[in-house]
Formats: sequence, C-alpha cells, structure tokens
Amino acid sequence: MEYRRMGKSGLQLSVVSFGSWVTFHKQIEDKLADELMGIAYDAGINFFDNAEVYALGESEKMMGRVLRTKNWDRTSYVVSSKAYFGWRGKKTTPNQSGLSRKHLTEACHEALQRLQLDYLDLYFCHRPDKNVPIEEVVWTMTNLIQQGKILYWGTSEWSAQEIMEAHVVATKNNLIGPVVEQPEYNMFRREKMENEFLQLFKTVGLGTTIWSPLASGVLTGKYAKEIPSDSRLAIPGFEWLKEKTLTDEKIIKANALQEVAQELNTTLPVLAIGWCLKNNNVTTAILGATKKEQLEENLKSVDLLPLLTQEVMNKIDTILNNKPILPEF
Ligand code: NDP
Repeated sequence: MEYRRMGKSGLQLSVVSFGSWVTFHKQIEDKLADELMGIAYDAGINFFDNAEVYALGESEKMMGRVLRTKNWDRTSYVVSSKAYFGWRGKKTTPNQSGLSRKHLTEACHEALQRLQLDYLDLYFCHRPDKNVPIEEVVWTMTNLIQQGKILYWGTSEWSAQEIMEAHVVATKNNLIGPVVEQPEYNMFRREKMENEFLQLFKTVGLGTTIWSPLASGVLTGKYAKEIPSDSRLAIPGFEWLKEKTLTDEKIIKANALQEVAQELNTTLPVLAIGWCLKNNNVTTAILGATKKEQLEENLKSVDLLPLLTQEVMNKIDTILNNKPILPEF
C-alpha cells in the first residue's frame, strides 16, 4: 500500500480508503461490514470514512461495533465523521443541523458515542453553511482540537473561496485552519480537483479525501445495458442519484473506456480508480463496496499507476473530452 501525506499536515493516509455511504445498514449488515473492513485493513487501508447523516446514524453505529470487535490498535487507523445534515431526518429541528457551534459540538459528541471512540481523527464540515459566520466554525473546530475530541478538521464540497476564507480567519486569530477537503472526483467530475483548487494545493497545501471515484458504480460498466437489481441505482429512494449519475453520454464513455482497460489487461473499475490516484493532489480515494469481490478488485488500482503512461492518459482524455480548461496568461 502507498501512503500519502494529507496536504501540509503530518497525517499519512493510505492512497485508497474505505467509506460507508449508502452501503452500511442500507445494503449490508454487520457480518459483511466486518469482512470488508477486515479486507481493507489487512491490505493496508488506514482510513475509514463516515458521517452523522449516513443511514441516519446507523452507519456510524455499525462501524463502531465492527471496530470494537476488531480490537485493532487505535493508533493504526484514522476515522472520520462529518456534520451538517444532522441525523434525525424529517424530525430535524433548528440547531440539529448546520455548522453552528452548538451543532458541530453536539454532533461530534454524538458521533463519538455511536462510533464508540474517544476522539475522531478527522472531522468534516459536510457542506458550507451560509448562515454561520466562518469565525464561529473555525473557533469551534479549534476548540474541539484543543479538547482532544478531534485531531484535524476539514471541509466537504466547499468552494476554494470558502476554504481560503477559513484559512484567513485561522491565520488572523492564531486558530487552526482546515487541512483537508472532501470533494467528488472521478473521470466525469474534474473541475474542482483539476482547476479550482490548484492554487490552494500550492499555497495552503490542502489534502483531499475524494469521494465516488466510480461515480456510484457507473464507471464499472455495470449499467451499460440495464440496472442490476442488487446495485445502488436500483435502491428505492435513490431515484435522484440515478437521474444525476446515469446518462447516455456517461454510458457511451464508460463503454469506450472498457476498451482502454482491456488493452491494459485490467478492468474498468481498476482503471477508473487508478486514474484518480494518478493525480498527486489526491491524498486518498475513498472506496465503497457491497461485495468482497468488488473491494478485492478495486484494491488492484494501487498497482496500476506505472501502466498509466502519458499516452494512456491522453487516450482517456480524448474519450472523456472534459479536461478542465485552465486560464492562459
Ligand atoms: P464509488 O463511486 O466507488 O461507488 C461505490 C459503489 O459502486 C459500491 O458500493 C458498489 O455499489 C459499486 N461498486 C464498487 N466497486 C465495484 C466493482 N468492482 N464492480 C461493480 N460494482 C462496484 O464510491 P461511493 O459513492 O460509495 O463513495 C465512496 C465513499 O465516499 C462513501 O462511502 C463515503 O465515505 C464518501 N462520500 C462522501 C460524500 C461527501 O459528500 N463528502 C458523498 C458521497 C460519498 P453496488 O454494489 O450497490 O452497485
């Protein structure tokens, strides 16, 4: 396994990691979660990603139960949670979501209880909150770090400007700024990682824990002909995701990419994840899986990098036809 330093922070993350969105509680039960986390850990994965909103708290509870039975050395792995959406679903009342000091602090305590942990290694603001002053967020996160409840804090789906504002506030007040962002990044979604954040990578040295490297499975080729009944896009309630993710254009591109994968003697999911890792601004790509075979296959992406030559990357760019255009000087 390869490990990368998270931006300019001291923390090292395995270049692929493991997350629980949609899967834990909704698709898989404790036994399989235990097996998947075991495969991940044994392969060298040291980061497990979670959030208060995943299965409305049940995902954190499941991960907590697995971690408890595993008995792994707590210093050998990194666990995250994220706050913003709350976990009470339709019953959410004011102060039970967002990035106020009250919710960030209470959500941290609740996540620790559900995960059965003493501290979170990473704590993310799951989205920006336009109703809360950035000073309040930075102060709260700094306080949680000083209380030993979290070790690092980060953002998810924030703009470069919002991240920079947090840094300015932190520097001005001698507080601790965000060191990591969690954006969507995959062959279909490139703008933030390959354009918007470039300056931040250079200046503040932002780490990234990228999500949906397979575009929710579209970049496995499994949706080429129909929607398999045991797949994410067939889950009732996820019609919105199907609408957002499954377009004719993407299926055509995925089909063409299958050929590139074959030429490299590999599979499309391995190629798609390897392509993300080829970008050195990616600290870690968070994998998701509902079957052992999926995770075992996806782990092979780490070894693909030497085969991703400039020629292969150009061929992929021609198929994708979505390389961000950078400003010319
Ligand atoms: P992917 O895009 O990689 O999708 C994973 C899903 O694709 C699996 O659950 C499985 O679904 C299918 N799949 C995976 N590998 C294969 C394979 N080899 N062959 C066939 N099908 C496969 O990642 P996720 O969307 O799951 O995101 C990963 C993690 O990122 C999440 O768990 C979460 O931790 C984080 N995340 C963060 C977000 C944020 O806002 N910060 C938003 C979303 C995710 P199935 O079997 O059901 O088809």
